[in-house]
Amino acid sequence: VGGHPKPQTAPLKPQSIKKIIAVGSGKGGVGKSTVSSNLAVALARAGKKVGLLDADIYGPSQPRMMGTTKRAASPDGKIIEPLVAHGVTMMSIGLMLDEAKAVVWRGPMLMGALQQMMGQVNWGELDVLVIDLPPGTGDIQLTLGQRGAVDGAIVVSTPQDVALLDARKALDMFMTMKTPILGLIENMSVFVCPSCGHEAHIFGHGGVAAEATALGVPLLASLPIDLETRLAGDAGTPIAVGQGAMADAYAALAQHLIE
Ligand code: ADP
Repeated sequence: VGGHPKPQTAPLKPQSIKKIIAVGSGKGGVGKSTVSSNLAVALARAGKKVGLLDADIYGPSQPRMMGTTKRAASPDGKIIEPLVAHGVTMMSIGLMLDEAKAVVWRGPMLMGALQQMMGQVNWGELDVLVIDLPPGTGDIQLTLGQRGAVDGAIVVSTPQDVALLDARKALDMFMTMKTPILGLIENMSVFVCPSCGHEAHIFGHGGVAAEATALGVPLLASLPIDLETRLAGDAGTPIAVGQGAMADAYAALAQHLIE
């Protein structure tokens, strides 16, 4: 990222979408997709019209996490009909691909796919579109940022040093592109033993909060390592669909972002 990027062509953001929130991370496996699906569900439960775009071209996991493995239909060959799951309108590059196939795409093809998912999907009127970004600071993030498509970015990190180091790069990229930063989310912050209540800081402790303070960005949430969250994601019914402490945490996050 360098210089002062300016929007290069027509806006990417469809007019029928009021707000786009992009969820990024420095590296993979920190829970970015889990946070994206649960945030989308929690926003829908709060009464918003919500879309979820899985732009994680290299590891699209939203079809599995949202429990929609149907292929997306395009009756006229132009407009793609999104799927609806748990009250969320969703589209994933994974719904256009074989889940087992690895994607090795070059920049221009990525841009084509992104453009198609933004412009040719029949999203309808949306209050919020949540975009699950690929990890890191690649072409997808740059294009969305440079073309002013993102109203607010969230960066998810574990407290682990390497994850934090990469999260800082992701934040730096958004700052350079002048994308408004909504804040950091610390995921897998602590493991509380279900039998004895002992707290284990498996990935470290306090690093994300310290980073948020150092960079002057809000710490939006601190989410524990939670077996039910993982099981719910694998089962295609995000934890935020139900009741309990994790659903409450996502509801609070959604409420905070609405206000
Ligand atoms: P990313 O999108 O950053 O690659 P995922 O959301 O796919 O990460 O999460 C990676 C794995 O960790 C998944 O199996 C997911 O269910 C699990 N996971 C994510 N967040 C949590 C959590 N808070 N507690 C337990 N498991 C989690």
